[in-house]
Amino acid sequence: MNSGPQNLLPTWASRVTQREIRRLYETDARGIHDEELINEVGYGLLARCLSSIDAAEAVGGKARCPQCSGIVVHSGRSGEVLRCSCGWELTWEDYFDTIQHKQLLGAEPVLRQFHSFVQAFPAARTPQEKTLLIDQLIHGFHWFCKTNTPTRPVAVNLIEGRLSEVVAFLENLSCGGRSTAGVAENYAQWDKSIEVNSGWYASRRERDAKRER
Ligand SMILES: [Zn+2]
Repeated sequence: MNSGPQNLLPTWASRVTQREIRRLYETDARGIHDEELINEVGYGLLARCLSSIDAAEAVGGKARCPQCSGIVVHSGRSGEVLRCSCGWELTWEDYFDTIQHKQLLGAEPVLRQFHSFVQAFPAARTPQEKTLLIDQLIHGFHWFCKTNTPTRPVAVNLIEGRLSEVVAFLENLSCGGRSTAGVAENYAQWDKSIEVNSGWYASRRERDAKRER
């Protein structure tokens, strides 16, 4: 198939950078509510959540057309060509290629967290409410159904870096007496969840080793 406007590839929002998130927490820890910065981070995360939701829908058989945003139903068979009424077409294989290896896909509990953020964030009124929603989202966990224990942090779908880097990053975020109320509590909850699987995370193993010395 020749590539051209007719077989436009879908594009996905990238993960938010660690730098942006760090700036938000540093500002918040000083008791400053920079609404422009909060919105920048919040809407970046929201776009990423929407991409993740769309990617999951596409894998489930309902691909969004990158040309007109219409939904193209497909069976996921290899070699199948997705065709939209607007004239766009692309093989499912080429479509799926754009989704893979981008930390876009998450299981159902993750998507539920993303859905609720997408609804709640634009409705939040105060900078404190927005900050808390961002904080809850990035400290969310994938829940392991069988044992109902927290496993992978959701943050890896949302913030740039490898899983271990993102965990180390979250551990070092600023939090102080002037931080938005609730931020410290979210962190404590997150910290407990990481502790359950501490063997997975190099940064945590190092920290624990230092403590034992
Ligand atoms: Zn279309």
